[in-house]
Amino acid sequence: MAEGGECGVRVLCRVRPLNALEEKAGSKFIPKISKDDTISVGGKVFMFDKVFKPTCTQEEVYSSGAKPIVGDVLSGYNGTIFAYGQTSSGKTHTMEGVLGDDKLQGIIPRIVADIFQYIYNMDENLEFHIKVSYFEIYMDKIRDLLDVTKFNLAVHEDKNRVPYVKGATERFVSSPEEVFEAIDDGKSNRHVAVTNMNEHSSRSHSVFLIQVKQENVETQKKLCGKLYLVDLAGSEKVGKTGAEGTTLDEAKNINKSLSALGNVIAALADENKAHVPYRDSKLTRILQESLGGNARTSIFICCSPASYNEPETKSTLLFGQRAKTIKNVVTVNEELTAEEWKRRYEKEKEKCTRFRGKLERAEQELERWRKGEKVSADEQVNLRDTSENMKESSSLQTLSSAPFPTSATTAAGAVPLTSEERMQYEQEKIKLYEQLDEKDDEISAKTTEVESFKEQVADQEELILASKRDCDALQAEIARIQTENDSAKDEVKEVLTALEELAMNYDQKSQEAETRSKEVETLSEELQQKMSTLNTSESELQTLRESNLHQKKRNLEMMISLIRDLGEIGVVLEKADAGLVKPVLGNTETIEEDFTVARLYISKLKSEVKSLFTHNQTLENTLSDNSSQLDEMRQQFSSAELAKQQHEAKIQSLGGSMKENENKRRQLEDQIDALNEEVAKLRAQEHVFTSKEAEASSTGALSEALTQQMEEHRKEHQKHLNSLRDELSAKQEVINSLKDANQKVSLSNEKLQADFEKLKGEEAEKSAMLAELSLQIDRREQAKQDLKGLEETVAKELQTLNNLRKLFVQDLQSRVKKSSQKIEDDEDLGGTTAQKQKISFLESNLDQLTKVHKQLVRDNADLRCELPKLEKRLRATVERVKQLETALKEAKEGAMKDRKRYQHEVDRIKDAVRQRNAARRGHAPNIAKPIRAGHGPVQQQSTSTGIRGGGANVRPPGVDA
Ligand code: ADP
Ligand code: MG
Repeated sequence: MAEGGECGVRVLCRVRPLNALEEKAGSKFIPKISKDDTISVGGKVFMFDKVFKPTCTQEEVYSSGAKPIVGDVLSGYNGTIFAYGQTSSGKTHTMEGVLGDDKLQGIIPRIVADIFQYIYNMDENLEFHIKVSYFEIYMDKIRDLLDVTKFNLAVHEDKNRVPYVKGATERFVSSPEEVFEAIDDGKSNRHVAVTNMNEHSSRSHSVFLIQVKQENVETQKKLCGKLYLVDLAGSEKVGKTGAEGTTLDEAKNINKSLSALGNVIAALADENKAHVPYRDSKLTRILQESLGGNARTSIFICCSPASYNEPETKSTLLFGQRAKTIKNVVTVNEELTAEEWKRRYEKEKEKCTRFRGKLERAEQELERWRKGEKVSADEQVNLRDTSENMKESSSLQTLSSAPFPTSATTAAGAVPLTSEERMQYEQEKIKLYEQLDEKDDEISAKTTEVESFKEQVADQEELILASKRDCDALQAEIARIQTENDSAKDEVKEVLTALEELAMNYDQKSQEAETRSKEVETLSEELQQKMSTLNTSESELQTLRESNLHQKKRNLEMMISLIRDLGEIGVVLEKADAGLVKPVLGNTETIEEDFTVARLYISKLKSEVKSLFTHNQTLENTLSDNSSQLDEMRQQFSSAELAKQQHEAKIQSLGGSMKENENKRRQLEDQIDALNEEVAKLRAQEHVFTSKEAEASSTGALSEALTQQMEEHRKEHQKHLNSLRDELSAKQEVINSLKDANQKVSLSNEKLQADFEKLKGEEAEKSAMLAELSLQIDRREQAKQDLKGLEETVAKELQTLNNLRKLFVQDLQSRVKKSSQKIEDDEDLGGTTAQKQKISFLESNLDQLTKVHKQLVRDNADLRCELPKLEKRLRATVERVKQLETALKEAKEGAMKDRKRYQHEVDRIKDAVRQRNAARRGHAPNIAKPIRAGHGPVQQQSTSTGIRGGGANVRPPGVDA
C-alpha cells in the first residue's frame, strides 16, 4: 500500500452565459472575473482553483478541470467530480453536456473516452476490469437506474470501512460505447419512472460510478480506482411554496441531503470539530471518501450570472469557498502481495521492538522522577521521535482498517491507553459500526415496508372511500330505483288499464261489427224486397204497356170505325142526294152546304185524331222516361249490390284484424306478466343488496359487482320505462287523434247526410211537383182541347142538325105548299132515326174514348204516384249503403290504427327486450391485461470482459467484493 499524501479538494467555478430568457428580461451579468482564479459578486471576492468564463468551451473545462483525474484513477486513486449549483446553472451541461456531440459533450463522456484511450496506450501486462453503476438519490432513497426493480438500496461499508451502495447493479464494460449504452439505459429508466423530468432532475442527485481494476499479469500487482461523477440536485432552497407539486416531505428531504452535504463540508472545514456527520444522509455517506477521505476530489460550482440569481450565486460561491478548505488524504488502493505483506510485517516488528526499548527507558525515567530524583537532560528519553513513529503506525492502521479520523493525537493530559485497550476499542467501534450498518439496513427495509404499507393504506383508504361513495351512490340508486319501481308499477297499472280499455274498445267494435253485419243482413233483405217490388213494378209496367198497346189498338179501331162511319155518312148523304134530296130540292147550294158540313166534320175528326196522337206521343214519352228511370234505378241497385259485397268483404277483413288485435293484446299481457316478474326479481336483488350492504365496505369487489348489476337493472328499467312511457304517450296521442278524426268524420258525415237528405227531399218534391204540374197542364190542355173539339164538333153537328132540320122543315113546308098532298112521312121519319142512331153511336164512341182517356190518365197518375215512392226507397237504400260504407270505413280505419298501435307497441317491447338482452350481454366483466410501467430489458450483468492495456487479452474477471 502506498503512503498517504495530503491533497486539497479542487474547487472550480464555472459561470454560464446569460440565457435568452434572462437577456429578454433585461438581467445584468453581475459576476466580475478578474483573473483566472478570482471572481467577485456584489463586491465580495472569491478565490478558487480556477474560474471558467462563460466563453470557455467544454473542451477547456474538461482539460483543465477533470482530465488529471483520469490518470489518477488509472493509477489506483479514488476520484470524485461533482457539480454544485442552483437549477439551470449548468451542472448537467458541465457533467454530461450534449451526449454524442464532439463539441458540446461534457465531462462524463470525455472521461470515459479518455479512460479507454489511456488503457489502450498502457503497458501490455496490465489487465483491466471496468464496471459502471448508475443510480440516483431522491428523497434520501437510492434508486438503481440500471435496474428499476431496485428502488431503495442501502449504503454499506466494505472490509476497508469504505461505504458503498450495496446491491447496486455493476455493469461490466469493455468499450466507451458500452458505457454510453449504460448511461442511455439509465436515463431512459429515469424518464420512465417520472412524469416531469425537469422537475425531477432538479430535485435528485444522479451518481455515475466508474470502477477501474487493474492487474499486472507479471507482478500480480493489483490497483483499483473508483470515480464518482455526481450531478447534484439544485442547491436553491426548496420552500414550502416552491415549485408546484412539491410536498413538504419532498422539500424537507431534498434540503436534508444538501444541507447534510453543507454540514459535512462545514465540519471538515472546521478544524476543531471532531465529528463529521457523514451518516446524516445517503449522499454524504456515498461521498464520505470524496470529502476528507481517500479521494482526489474536484467540485464544479456552477453559477448563473443573472442579477436575478445573485443571492443563490453568492451562496453557491460561499459553499465553494468552504469546500476549498477540505483536505483529503489520498493513497493508492493497492492489493498487496504476500511478500510485500511479509516485508512490511518485518519492518513493523522492528519498529515495535524499537518502541518497546524506548518505552522501557521512559518507564525507568519515570520511576526515577517519581522517586524524586532528578534526571539530567541527556538522560531523558526523546519522545518526539516516538510520536513521529506513532504517526507512521497510525497511518498504517488507517490503511489496514479504516480512514476515519482516529484522533490519535490524544491530549497529553488524558490517561494513555494500552495497545490492548486500543485494540478493544477499535474492535468495539467496528462492531458498533457494523451494528449501525445493520440498523441502517433494517431501517431501509422498514422504510420500504412502511412505504409499501403506506401505499397499501392509501390504496385501502381509496378503496374505502370509493366503496363508501359507491355505497352512497348505490343507496341513492336504490332509492331512485325504488321510486322508479313504484312509478313503473303505476305505469304498468296504467298500461293494464289502457289494455283493459283497449279490450273494451275491442268488444265494442266487435259488437258494432255484429250490429253492422245484422244491418247488412236487413239491408240485403230489404234489397230482396225491393227487387221483388221492382219485379212487380216491371210486371205492372208490362201490363201498362200492354194496356197501352190495347188502347192504341182500340184507338185505331175507333179511328177505323169513325172513318167507316164517315164513309157511311157519306154514302147516306149520297143516297139522300140521289134518292131523296136531289129530287126534292134539286138545289146545288144545299149540297155544297152538306159538303162543307162534312168537311167540317172531317176537320174536326182530324183535329181530334191529331190531339189523340199527340196525347199518345206524350204518353209514350212518359213511358220512355219511366223506362230510363227504371234503368237508372237498376244501375243504382247494381252499384248498391256491389257496395254491399265490398262491405261484406271489408267486414270479413275487419274480423281478421280484430282477431290479430286480440292475439297482440294477449302478447302484451304476457309481456306485462314478464315485466312484473322482473320487478319482483329487482326487489329480491334489492333485499340481497341491503343485507350485504354491511359487508360492502370490506368487500369492494362485491359492491362493484352489485353496482354493476344495479347499473344494469337500472338501465334496463330505465329503458323499459322509457319505452313504456313512449308507448303510452303514443297510444294516448293515437287515441286522441282517433277520437278527433272520428268526431270530425261523424260530424262531416252527419252534415253531408243532412245536406243529402235535404237535397234529395227537395229534389223529390220538386220532381213530384213538376210531374204533377206537367200532368195537370197536360190534362188540362188535353181536356180543354178535347172539350173544345167536342164542343166544336157537337156545336157543328147540332148546327148541321139544326140546319138539316131547318132545311128539312123548309123542304117539307115547300113540298106541302108546292106539290100535292103526297106526303111521305114514313121516309122522313126513317131518315131522322138513322141520323139519330148515328149520333147515338158517335156519342157512345165519344163516351168510350173519354172513358179510355180517363183510364189512361188515371193509370199515368198512379204510375206517377208510385214513382216518387220507389225513388224514396232507392234513396233510402243509397243512404243506407252510404252509412254502411262510412261505418265500414270508420271501423276499418279504427282497426288499422289499433293494429298500427299494437304493432308499434309490440315493436317497442321487442326493442326493449332486445336492448335488455344486449345490456345483459354488454355488462359481462371485461378482462383486461394490465399495463405496467417500468419493465425494462434484461441487463447483461454476468458477461464481463477484461481489457488489457495495449493488447487484446481477454480474461474473466476475478471475484468481486
Ligand atoms: P442544471 O443541470 O444546473 O439545472 P443545465 O445544465 O441543464 O442546468 O443548464 C440549463 C441550460 O443552460 C441548458 O439549456 C444548458 O444548455 C445551458 N447552459 C448551461 N451552461 C452553459 C454554458 N456554459 N454555455 C452554454 N449554455 C449553457
Ligand atoms: Mg441538471
